[in-house]
Amino acid sequence: MKADLHTHTYLCKHADGIAEDYVRSAVDRGLTMIGCTDHAPMPDNYDEKHRMTLEQFHADYKPAVLELRERFKNVIDVKFGVESDFFPGTEQWVRDFHDANDFDFVIGSVHYLGEWGFDNPVFVHRYDEENIDSVYERYFNHIRRSAESGLFDILGHCDLVKKFGHRPTKNMDEIVRETMKVVKACDIVVEINTSGLRKPVQEMYPSEEILKIIGELHIPLTLGSDAHMPEDVARDFDRARPLIERYGGGVVSVFTKRQRSEVRVS
Ligand code: ZN
Ligand code: FE
Ligand code: FE
Ligand code: ZN
Repeated sequence: MKADLHTHTYLCKHADGIAEDYVRSAVDRGLTMIGCTDHAPMPDNYDEKHRMTLEQFHADYKPAVLELRERFKNVIDVKFGVESDFFPGTEQWVRDFHDANDFDFVIGSVHYLGEWGFDNPVFVHRYDEENIDSVYERYFNHIRRSAESGLFDILGHCDLVKKFGHRPTKNMDEIVRETMKVVKACDIVVEINTSGLRKPVQEMYPSEEILKIIGELHIPLTLGSDAHMPEDVARDFDRARPLIERYGGGVVSVFTKRQRSEVRVS
């Protein structure tokens, strides 16, 4: 099984190509499964500059992915997913949105601390105005709460706060370990996301130090490229595979209608 469970489309306005381009790229790269997981709309179309609107979700994204799932079913297993945001105060809206749409799976990601889209290059200057240790603490607090929310199947890029290379000045091991214990207790899967290799930090999400904790706690893993261009589907998966062997027993989790199963990676 070769699966990429994290890809985007032009609908989020910072990615290229339609869902079909990503599916075809996955076929070209020999994958047997691809998850379409573009950025979900938010209540009142919050931050629609960086995501589809609810109207686009219903008029374009959902029918396109469902049509691909059917049309490619003898070629590749296309999953209907979405990357939703954990944003305190929106939980009920997000729960209703997920329940109404029969997804195969949902990635939950923390992209905002308050109103600050901290992974957006446009707002990177704000790191210089903040106490970096408290940014990290708030970030992992949000990760813990995103797991506790019960809204998501997979935690996306769970140390995204490092994206631009800002590092904490104090040791975060204890906070990370306590966070991951909650993740384990909440029975949620953590994603190995190779896109960090293409970002200033130049390492995967999460770091190998965090993966070590994940392995000790037997938290299940999954794998995604977070491709925002069709040619990035499955990018650097050869570098992720040894990590899945070492910290995940060589298996990844996949989902159908939000039911998890495990498959061996090849
Ligand atoms: Zn994105
Ligand atoms: Fe994300
Ligand atoms: Fe993403
Ligand atoms: Zn992402």
